[in-house]
Amino acid sequence: MNYKTIYSAANATEAHLIKGLLGQKSIEVNLMGEDLSIGMGGLPTDVMQVKIKVNEDKFSKALEIISNYEQLLKQPAQDGKSWECEECNQVNPETFEICWSCQANHLTVA
Ligand SMILES: [Zn+2]
Repeated sequence: MNYKTIYSAANATEAHLIKGLLGQKSIEVNLMGEDLSIGMGGLPTDVMQVKIKVNEDKFSKALEIISNYEQLLKQPAQDGKSWECEECNQVNPETFEICWSCQANHLTVA
């Protein structure tokens, strides 16, 4: 099977959020780079980029899901569904319980 890189997540948290989104549509995901961040000592995992790979067959479908996700991120918090992180002011979709950017917990910072 051929896997193609579809997205470079800023950190492992974002990678797992996207993996979850794609998983809901039965799209299998390979995360590259995540393992590297373990055991390197000193480098926190959240500064490591994680490459998200999907099967070529699912690439266009996955691209659609990821562009929807990016649209969500760009939306202002005024729709009542997204929430703005109090730590870093990034906007998160309502389905995210932790900030994709700084990993602050929405439920505890709110
Ligand atoms: Zn944040």
